[in-house]
Amino acid sequence: MKILVINAGSSSLKYQLMDPDTQDVLAKGLCERIGIDGRLTHKVPGREDKTFEIAMPTHAEAIASVIDALLSPEYGVIKSASEIDAVGHRVVHGGEAFNGSVLIDEKMMAALEACIPLAPLHNPANITGIKACEAVMGKDVPQVGVFDTAFHQTMPSKAYIYAVPYEFYTDNEVRKYGFHGTSHRYVSARAAAMMGRPIEELKIVTCHLGNGSSLCAVDGGKSVDTTMGFTPLDGVPMGTRCGSVDPSIVEYIVNTKKVDVGEAMNILNKKSGVLGISGVSSDFRDLDAAAAQGNERAQLAIDVFCYQVTKSIGACAAAMGGLDAVVFTAGVGENSADLREKITAPLAFLGVKVDHEKNQVRGKETDISADGAAVRTFLIPTNEELVIAQDTAAIVRGL
Ligand code: AMP
Repeated sequence: MKILVINAGSSSLKYQLMDPDTQDVLAKGLCERIGIDGRLTHKVPGREDKTFEIAMPTHAEAIASVIDALLSPEYGVIKSASEIDAVGHRVVHGGEAFNGSVLIDEKMMAALEACIPLAPLHNPANITGIKACEAVMGKDVPQVGVFDTAFHQTMPSKAYIYAVPYEFYTDNEVRKYGFHGTSHRYVSARAAAMMGRPIEELKIVTCHLGNGSSLCAVDGGKSVDTTMGFTPLDGVPMGTRCGSVDPSIVEYIVNTKKVDVGEAMNILNKKSGVLGISGVSSDFRDLDAAAAQGNERAQLAIDVFCYQVTKSIGACAAAMGGLDAVVFTAGVGENSADLREKITAPLAFLGVKVDHEKNQVRGKETDISADGAAVRTFLIPTNEELVIAQDTAAIVRGL
């Protein structure tokens, strides 16, 4: 079976053609500058990467270029578009309407559109991607939506209700939703497999630390709490996002900096996080380099980030009343041995202990726990595309 996985953003679109059973990636790539001019980077394992400048006024032209690239006699990987059995789409927000992946039909499309106010920056692009695929590939190719929020729909109400007037929830859907669900689901399942134990009996804290970061308390295979909230702005500090702050800061910034609420939110989304603290970069590689040169604010940004992640691991363990494993994933979690060690060092009292030598590893599934540690610590590269392809295949096989 061949599944095309699509992750559509407002001006970019990532794709991957994969076999969900063998887990082979046949080709993958990225369309950028959609609506501006258009560039396609196409990668086939074992072959040279190809980059093309192609006009992409809308997502439909981007999808058409992807199909052309996949079919190309020179650098393609399939002979006919009919070899693509289905398309799986990453969708950021499924609200309370979606607690799992779904086949997209007219009813689902309407439910998806109803979620737009909850994610005005992300869901319209995801919907555009779905419509573009239908326009280019026709209605007969099944399309499946896989939601970042779905895995967290198992959270109990005590975890997702904010202490604000209850009508905010009943009338306006204000609650904690959580994000990165596909990643948390994948790495927690892999951790259980690596431990050789049923996930149903495990309490796992998954740390997705990348440009955006969130942690999840996975109890018995189900999300029972997570650090992101109503939006992906909440939780631990991120590359450019502030994470949890006192909401009164918004009004204070508006009054003292003489900006409107939109600009205040823009600052908290795009000019805060480790970039805001350091004034150097949102990228931890740059922060490490600057801190090594003696830049104190870069060091402070790293310290604040690690401190908040450490505290959140403790909070997740408390939410579950126990801890069997901690998992690190995503750009920072998979690549930075130093940060993994700094984050876990204060958690010895919980039984978390990382082995310095085993931890000198990057992007490879590894048990980095010290011998005899009561809690296992893992590095597990995330693979959201594989989950999307496998969910899509399962739904299509059931049709
Ligand atoms: P992601 O959002 O998962 O793609 O993660 C991207 C982020 O990972 C980058 O912005 C970097 O901050 C971080 N990252 C990637 N490689 C490294 C590395 N070798 N050391 C520290 N951080 C890294």
